[in-house]
Amino acid sequence: MTPNSAFSLGVASALPGLRFPALPAAHVLPRLAMFQQLEASQWLAPEALRDWQFAQLDALLRHVRATVPAYRPRLAQAGLDGERRCTPADWARLPLLTRRDLQSDGRRFASNSVPVEHGAVAALSTSGSTGEPVEVLRSGLDRLMWEAIQLRDHAWHGRDLAGTLCVIRAGVPAMPDDAAQPNWGAATADLFATGPSHALPIDTDVSRQAAWLRHHDPHYLLSYPSNLSALLDRLEPGALPRLREVRSIGEMLPQELRDAVRQRWGVPLVDHYSCNEVGSIALQCPVSGLYHVQSESLLVEVLDVQGAPCAPGTTGSVVLTTLHGFAQPLLRYELRDHAEVGPPCPCGRGLPTLRRIVGRTRNMLTLPGGEKRWPLVGFAEYRAIAPIRQYQMVQTAVDALELRLVVERPLSAAEEAALTAVVQRALGHPFALRFDYRERLLPAASGKFEEFLSLVAD
Ligand SMILES: [Zn+2]
Repeated sequence: MTPNSAFSLGVASALPGLRFPALPAAHVLPRLAMFQQLEASQWLAPEALRDWQFAQLDALLRHVRATVPAYRPRLAQAGLDGERRCTPADWARLPLLTRRDLQSDGRRFASNSVPVEHGAVAALSTSGSTGEPVEVLRSGLDRLMWEAIQLRDHAWHGRDLAGTLCVIRAGVPAMPDDAAQPNWGAATADLFATGPSHALPIDTDVSRQAAWLRHHDPHYLLSYPSNLSALLDRLEPGALPRLREVRSIGEMLPQELRDAVRQRWGVPLVDHYSCNEVGSIALQCPVSGLYHVQSESLLVEVLDVQGAPCAPGTTGSVVLTTLHGFAQPLLRYELRDHAEVGPPCPCGRGLPTLRRIVGRTRNMLTLPGGEKRWPLVGFAEYRAIAPIRQYQMVQTAVDALELRLVVERPLSAAEEAALTAVVQRALGHPFALRFDYRERLLPAASGKFEEFLSLVAD
C-alpha cells in the first residue's frame, strides 16, 4: 500500500464533530470514489489493466454504434460489428482518426444521445501552436476523471495541500495581485482542506511574474517549461524560500530544465504530459521519473510508421482513445506527438510507461527533398556564441529558416555568422537563415511555446 493516499492528503469532513474517518459532502463523493479506485487500480498487473480497458471499450463501442453514425463505416471496416467482444487484433484494424478529420467536421463524431447521468456537455476549444483549431465535446464524466487524475498526481508526489500554489498559464483570468482562490482548483474544492492558490496569465511580463512570485512565496509553482526557463534567469537561489516543487505542463520538457531547476532553486521539477483535446495523458512516476500512462482514462498506443506497436526503447506516434468520451468519442486519435515507449516501472505500478515525449510531429523539419526529421538545431551551443536570452526557430519554406531571438545586446556580424554555421552544421543542409530580433517571444494562443515551429505544409 502506498503511504500517499486520501489520508495523507487530508480529506475534509462535512459532518460536525467527525474528523476520522472523514465523511465529505455528498456532491464530492463521486470524485473521492474515483480517486480511491485509481489508488487501487494502479497496482493491477498490466494484463489485468488491459482487460478492464477492453471491457470499458466494449461499453463505449456499443454507445458509438448506437449514437455516432460517422464511426459506423470505420467500425465495419475493422469488423467491429458488436457480435463479439473487441480484441486487441480487431482494434488494430480500426482506421486512425486524424486531426484533419476533427478540423474539417469534428461534430460528425459527436454522439447524438449522451447518457444524462454523464453530466453536462461542454465544448473544449483548442487553438494549437500552429493555428489549427480543434473542438472536442466533453461531459461531466470526462471532467470527473480529469479531477481524479489531478488528485492522483498530488498523492504520488506527496504534496502538502495546505501549502500555497502559484499558477502561471494560459486561460486564467487576470486578477488583482493579492487575489487568491480558497483552494487549488476543481479537483480539490470541498474535498480536501488546501491552502490558497494564485494565478497569473502567461502573457504577463516575466519581471512582473518574478515580483508576483516573490510576493506570494509559493510552496508549489506550476507553469510551462519555456516560461520556467525565463523565470530561472530572474529569480536567484533563495528568492522563493518556501518553494518545494516546480510543476511543468503543456510543452516538451528539455532535460536541461530539470537539471537547471534542481541546481538553481534546489527543488525537483515534476512534469505532466497532457493535451488540450483530452487532458491528462501521463504523469511522472515518483519513483523512476518515467511517465505513467493514465490507463483508467485512456487507451494509449505508440505506433511505428507501419502502424505496429512500438517496443520499449523505440519511438513512435502517440494514438489515443478516450475510454469515457461518450459526448464525442475519440477512437484511435492520432495526436501528432512522438514518444519513446518505456520499460515496466520499478515502482511496481502496472500502468505502462513512456520514457520521454520527443516532440510534435507537426513541428518536424522538412528537408528540401521532402524528408522529415526532428530538428536538432544546436540550441545548446547558442549561448556560448552570443548573449541570447530566448530563441525560437521557424521553418518558413523548405529551404529557409527564421531565427527569432531575444538578446541582451545587438549581435555582431561575426556572431550571426557563427550561429548560422552551427545551425547549418546541426541540420546538415545550408538553409538560408534570417535573423529576427524581438523584445520578447510569446507563446501561441494555446499558451504553449514551441522552440521549433514549421510553417511548411505536410
Ligand atoms: Zn512507476
